[in-house]
Amino acid sequence: MDKLTYFHEKVEELKDAGVYRVLPVNYGPCANVINLNNRKVVNLSSNNYLGLADHPRLKEAAKKAIDKYGIGAGSVRTIVGNQDILEELERELAKFKREEAVVCFQSGLNCNLGVIPAITEKGDLIISDELNHASIIDGVRLSRADKAIFRHADTEHLAEILAEKAEQYKRVFIITDGVFSMDGDIAPLPEIVELAEKYNAYVYVDDAHGSGVLGEGGRGTIDHFHLNGRVDFIVGTLSKAIGVIGGYLATKTKVKEWLLHRARPLLFSTALPPAAIAATIEAVKILSESEALTEKLWDNAAYFKKGLKDLGFNTGQSKTPITPVIIGDEALTMKFSQQLLEEGVFVSGIVFPTVPPGTGRCRVMLSASHTKEDLDFALNAFSAAGRKLKIIK
Ligand SMILES: *Cc1c(COP(=O)(O)O)cnc(C)c1O
Repeated sequence: MDKLTYFHEKVEELKDAGVYRVLPVNYGPCANVINLNNRKVVNLSSNNYLGLADHPRLKEAAKKAIDKYGIGAGSVRTIVGNQDILEELERELAKFKREEAVVCFQSGLNCNLGVIPAITEKGDLIISDELNHASIIDGVRLSRADKAIFRHADTEHLAEILAEKAEQYKRVFIITDGVFSMDGDIAPLPEIVELAEKYNAYVYVDDAHGSGVLGEGGRGTIDHFHLNGRVDFIVGTLSKAIGVIGGYLATKTKVKEWLLHRARPLLFSTALPPAAIAATIEAVKILSESEALTEKLWDNAAYFKKGLKDLGFNTGQSKTPITPVIIGDEALTMKFSQQLLEEGVFVSGIVFPTVPPGTGRCRVMLSASHTKEDLDFALNAFSAAGRKLKIIK
């Protein structure tokens, strides 16, 4: 048998199920307006919350770093890949996050895959929110600890699991996203931290969508709730609001020392490239200098959410710039996304299995890079497409 038959049949199955897709191509930088498949559209689907992905100061810093440090780190950190600017970035990030230490990874996903198995062992229990990000789920799979799942953001359920199981384990870890990416809601961290303290459990928060968005100047969900020093492991990404690539863990120096010996992405995968590191240092500087970008982001989010509500759309439980426009029916969701694109606005349609069946949504991601004209143009498109498909009156 032709060895490719297997893959051919798998792809045919996707086509039969109507979920086969061709990747759209962006012919330029990630910005407020993008050149998608060679057509200019307003971009309401990136994680580039602060517009830093195409920021002149970051680009300049990256170019200078290439001249000084070259293109690649050349090795994993534990051999000769540990360039001084990477250590500088870790110091700057720790200062910014107001935590003792930071360890950088090559991505947020890779940080969860590396950290969770390295800090847990057989005889431990991990209790995880049911809507946690895929990279947490995979990190937990790589761990030898037992796991339990609590209902989304349900601290009563978490308390029940702790009461029932905590005693049987050496150590207990509670893991949650800070901001949930499909609904834009925020984890009930004050209650989670209180429960953890009662049971002497560790708290691990993946704040990929909170970093650069919530808290003073984008310091994140822990800062937003004034919980500094009470969360043991804080994961952030450098790939979303920060606009570059990479992930990090903010934690205690002791934990960092251990991870430098045991987190497999630090031992077996090449360190971040200098251009990305330098651009990230510049991004942290920009955020430390002023709250202008985070304020613009929240102003844009408030303006657009109000516009959508006034038009009669359902924007769910969102408390952040992640704004789901809940449609329900899967086919109608995808049709709506297609119609919006025809009107000149890109908003990705998200359906089962990424979200529960019957809760299809077009997910709007606001950014500080959007102008008022972009937002008004997009609201007009929502109005036209929504009426055409009879989603609104
Ligand atoms: C996006 C995301 C990640 C992955 O971050 P990358 O830096 O893009 O790899 C991890 N965790 C959460 C919760 C995310 O939303």
